[in-house]
Amino acid sequence: MPNMSLKRNEMPTQPACERNKNFKEVALGYSAEQAIDEAQRCLHCKHKPCVSGCPVNIHIPDFIAKVAEGKFEEAYQIITESSSLPAVCGRVCPQETQCEQKCVRGLRGESVAIGRLERFVADYHNENIKTAAKAVQKNGHKVAIIGSGPSGLTCAGDLAKKGYDVTIFEALHLAGGVLVYGIPEFRLPKSIVQKEIDTLKEIGVKVETNMVIGKVISIDELLDEYHFEAIFIGSGAGLPRFMNIPGENLNGVYSANEFLTRVNLMKAYKDHNDTPIQHAKKVAVVGGGNVAMDAARSAKRLGAEEVYIIYRRSEAELPARHEEVEHAKEEGIIFKFLTNPIEILGDEHKFVRGIKCVEMELGEPDESGRRRPIEKKDSQFTIDVDSVIMAIGTSPNPLIKSTTKGLETQRWGGIIIDEATGATSREGVYAGGDAVTGAATVILAMGAGKTAAKAIDEYIQSKKK
Ligand SMILES: Cc1cc2nc3c(=O)[nH]c(=O)nc-3n(C[C@H](O)[C@H](O)[C@H](O)COP(=O)(O)OP(=O)(O)OC[C@H]3O[C@@H](n4cnc5c(N)ncnc54)[C@H](O)[C@@H]3O)c2cc1C
Ligand code: SF4
Repeated sequence: MPNMSLKRNEMPTQPACERNKNFKEVALGYSAEQAIDEAQRCLHCKHKPCVSGCPVNIHIPDFIAKVAEGKFEEAYQIITESSSLPAVCGRVCPQETQCEQKCVRGLRGESVAIGRLERFVADYHNENIKTAAKAVQKNGHKVAIIGSGPSGLTCAGDLAKKGYDVTIFEALHLAGGVLVYGIPEFRLPKSIVQKEIDTLKEIGVKVETNMVIGKVISIDELLDEYHFEAIFIGSGAGLPRFMNIPGENLNGVYSANEFLTRVNLMKAYKDHNDTPIQHAKKVAVVGGGNVAMDAARSAKRLGAEEVYIIYRRSEAELPARHEEVEHAKEEGIIFKFLTNPIEILGDEHKFVRGIKCVEMELGEPDESGRRRPIEKKDSQFTIDVDSVIMAIGTSPNPLIKSTTKGLETQRWGGIIIDEATGATSREGVYAGGDAVTGAATVILAMGAGKTAAKAIDEYIQSKKK
């Protein structure tokens, strides 16, 4: 008999008043008892609607059945048939709009906590199971991967398992992409990302850091001089956008990308670290996505007394994950909805002293389907702040496009591909993840890496005939 409780098991978390002063993980994870109890809420529906809600179609009811029986390692093996980063996805996927949204238990009550169970299973495996990497017979073919984010890591892993000699070229000094420089430690501990990268290295994937493709080596050189037979571009969308309002060059204005890179990658929050960061007292973060939430919650942890999220639409339109918004509120972040900045104000030394905003109201839906924000007349007001963080979106860096002849891109910079294979307009060159779609999600980037790995294998094998 299944557990018919309408409510899911709560996630143990650090108390808000403690966690907003440290960078340790907020959610602490289920115990084995909580996981088994939660797994027993699954009805094992014949049509498995949850599976169709998962972008990589994990066999959800099958792995949950193993959890309910206490067979956690068997559950892990089922998940990893479809997903290569379960400890990451269990933490950061927007399950509420994917698998959990389709779960029939959600029709009357709360859906099964699929993401929390995935995380439990992955953590159990990482803590308890020590398996040596399986030796793979090399097939003698070389593939280069540009970028070590979730798309590149997934593509590399799938190809290495098939025997390819895979080299990842990463511009930064550490591999992991947004998982290491963007998403903070308090949501995704970096040791988890490192574990996934070490596993790839064990199966033979080489990782070359400090290699900016397009500067140090070009794509043509990788193909012609270094004899890579195929290339996957997973270079993400790391170029920050600004609003082009007066005052954006003042001291104390950051892109979220710079702010989070200093905090996460360079560990600027630690005492006596070489990389400095401003410990502002009053901070305005402009934007409403996950990036804005991460920046705001990091600013609070750096000691800010007041942190504002300034968002031009209303709470209903916030694109950030529901759970992250709730956590931000609990930690004391102040939300200013229907508010748009028009100028950043500075003092005589060119340091930020305030942000001038206008109130907005919502009009008719625009092309994105969301109601268009319209400025209210005579509604200007100023918030006193000493730092402003812009988190209004990013786009792909134009470097690879501008140094690779014949690589077609959209006007906004996204690489154009054949969706079924990830093939670009250049033969042997594939692409996926944010470099193609613009800023999206970890699981979609992983799915794109998988699709391209399959197509690259078919391409190289067909050339041999
Ligand atoms: C702060 C933040 C929070 C987020 N929160 C979530 C979340 O909660 N859930 C979720 O699903 N998604 C979230 N996302 C989005 C998610 O992280 C991305 O969609 C995902 O990481 C994209 O993966 P990717 O492999 O395409 O690129 P990335 O992760 O961006 O990795 C690209 C890599 O390529 C490298 N690179 C770029 N150019 C070159 C070059 N020329 N040569 C060599 N290397 C290069 C970069 O340094 C980087 O390491 C968040 C993003 C950010 C920024
Ligand atoms: S939809 Fe929900 S209840 Fe049904 S199989 Fe999937 S997780 Fe279980």
